[in-house]
Amino acid sequence: MVISPSEFLRALCDHKILFETGVDGIYGRGGSFERALLGFEGLLTTRMAPDHADLLRFPPVIPRRDMETAGYLSSFPHLAGSVFSFTGDEAEARTLGSLAKEHGDWSALQTQTEVCLTPAACYPIYPWLAAQGAVAADGRLIDVSSFCFRHEPSDDPARMQSFRMREHVKIGTQSQVEAWHSGWSERGADILRSVGLETTEAPASDPFFGRTGRMLAANQVAQGFKLERSYLIAGSRPTPVMSLNYHHDHFSHDFDLKGPGGEPIHSACVAFGLDRVALALFSAHGLDDTKWPADVRGHLGLDELP
Ligand code: ATP
Ligand code: ZN
Repeated sequence: MVISPSEFLRALCDHKILFETGVDGIYGRGGSFERALLGFEGLLTTRMAPDHADLLRFPPVIPRRDMETAGYLSSFPHLAGSVFSFTGDEAEARTLGSLAKEHGDWSALQTQTEVCLTPAACYPIYPWLAAQGAVAADGRLIDVSSFCFRHEPSDDPARMQSFRMREHVKIGTQSQVEAWHSGWSERGADILRSVGLETTEAPASDPFFGRTGRMLAANQVAQGFKLERSYLIAGSRPTPVMSLNYHHDHFSHDFDLKGPGGEPIHSACVAFGLDRVALALFSAHGLDDTKWPADVRGHLGLDELP
């Protein structure tokens, strides 16, 4: 039986797997959801351990300047979230407080801060790497994970506004990055298959804004710069649970990243949408995780987690 995304959301909430907050795409996560997600992230850690990536973590906000330098506001202005705060005096604070209490419009009393909400786990890496000096001759492999924000409210539980992404990011010469990239679609399929998720691969594009954006998206598909692995979570269209993005030398130009000889460097990332994988597990194996197949529970380490 096909159920729609909104029916799936209702069932998840009825079973206390997700909790609604009153804002589309912002959910509380119940214990069984969180255990499935952490179990899958643990499996990723194990399966990616032989790669010896450098472990790096940033908070879910990034300097506004870096978001601007990356061109995010040109490509995805509709998805960006920026943080505003209060810098006024006591009288203005009183006005702000009472307006807010009445759920009025208090936006005029806010000023933009120096931070934005992280839109993808890998974004903070490029300025960080530029500050480390030239990239070593054998390149870098970095492991990042973060809550990410995108302003795309929806009643599809798989399209959240705040969700977790675990990534490996490869930085190096074109041939190093291409060699790393070429193995990952099958590798990702294999990891997802081990927890009972048979995925399909398709070329994809990023949700660029507007008319120019449609051209950028077509170009991205034509050049094969983005591949997605998708699973039918609910409704009639499979949802991407893993993306493989080849940025070419884009971030090198934005952030002045250089190889050992001063040449521009290339980058690519593999990103697992952890909340989407958790949703796919509930869709595939049922809403009662105690009844999931033993091998799936085993690979997720569910019998070991508290
Ligand atoms: P989509 O095509 O679904 O909008 P995307 O192409 O924008 O996704 P990426 O930017 O490649 O996605 O993000 C990496 C991964 O993060 C995706 O493969 C997906 O699993 C997950 N992801 C992206 N957007 C969301 C969202 N709104 N809610 C939950 N997970 C998401
Ligand atoms: Zn990335």
